Amino acid sequence: MTAPDHFHASSEEAFGARTDVGYTRAHNEDSLLVKPPLYAVCDGMGGHEAGEVASEIAVEELRRHAPAEPDADALGHAVDEANLAIIRAVSEGIGREGMGTTCTAAMLDGDRLAIAQCGDSRAYLLHAGTLQQLTRDHSLVADLIERGEIQPEEARTHPWRSYITRALGLDPRIHADLYELAADAGDRLMLCSDGLYSMVDDTEICRILTHTADPQDAADALTEAALAAGGNDNISVIVVDAVGSKRRRRKLARKTRVAAVTVIIGLVLILGGAGFALNWWMTNSAYLGEVDGNVAVYQGIPGQVLGMGYSHLDEVTDVPLDVLQPGTAARIRQQEVRCESLEAARHLVNEYRMEADLDQGADGADGAHGADGTEPTSSSGAAAQPASDASPTPDTPPAPDAQSGQSA
Ligand code: MG
Repeated sequence: MTAPDHFHASSEEAFGARTDVGYTRAHNEDSLLVKPPLYAVCDGMGGHEAGEVASEIAVEELRRHAPAEPDADALGHAVDEANLAIIRAVSEGIGREGMGTTCTAAMLDGDRLAIAQCGDSRAYLLHAGTLQQLTRDHSLVADLIERGEIQPEEARTHPWRSYITRALGLDPRIHADLYELAADAGDRLMLCSDGLYSMVDDTEICRILTHTADPQDAADALTEAALAAGGNDNISVIVVDAVGSKRRRRKLARKTRVAAVTVIIGLVLILGGAGFALNWWMTNSAYLGEVDGNVAVYQGIPGQVLGMGYSHLDEVTDVPLDVLQPGTAARIRQQEVRCESLEAARHLVNEYRMEADLDQGADGADGAHGADGTEPTSSSGAAAQPASDASPTPDTPPAPDAQSGQSA
């Protein structure tokens, strides 16, 4: 059975996978396992459909026995189980004598990466733009390269290039090489069978991995590159993007939440303080205006703030504006006469009322405004106080008309 060409599943790590039979093989003997955080590439061998039987048994045993989290020893134990299962299958008449498979299994969860590898399928890590081969091939050409007998570039065309020195299904005593590493956010893990790296060199693999943002697109591009180079073998690729330390990301998320709550609390305090100040200002402010020709008392502040009014009519008095001095009447109409409280505003209106009565009484005598010819003290933007010279004092005794004409 051939592994599906594409895999999609939900995972914190973004990933992509693809396998292709290539142009020269009749069957695809590669099998893939994509079960985040577990990923594996197995390249079967044995011919006549036996290779794919071996690789499928391997991925099924890995699926069954792999640990829940990256743990190289436990993953190695799962590979041991896969090895024994293939050997057992042959003894039971499944597949063929001599069938086997490579196995490169990886678990990536956060910043933890564990790998168990047997054979010549590979794991690479792209870190900061540099591609590093994480695993060592168990192959004759790899041994020859290590002994300095051939150059790495000769491996691709060497007549012994297909001989592997360790595989699952051939010897119950073999074990996988184990690796445990830390992966940073932005690192990219790539697993592949030799059908990729035998056709595409590491420089081109690095270029594709670096310049292809989506991991599925990267897996597709790598496979297409191997096909374009001839597709002489089955090609399998898994690309997984590391998200880095979960603890660090949780800490960052916690910091972000704390900062957001702090900002919200700050805004609430600022808005609450502004509301309190506005309320205080309104309840401690009053001004005079005109309603139907009479002086009216308003609590609050005239005009609008941010498109909203912050005042209400408290009282329409019985004092007509046209009995007041023209300048005072004009300022009242323009709502320029402000007081520190409703009480002060009412007090001021009383003074106007007294003056108006004085004026009415005085109109018949000399036509002057006020007892001394001035209007009561008031000011724009400041608390208005009853004019001291409008009140009777021992030095300026009130005229008898002023007392008798008081109406309020
Ligand atoms: Mg192969």
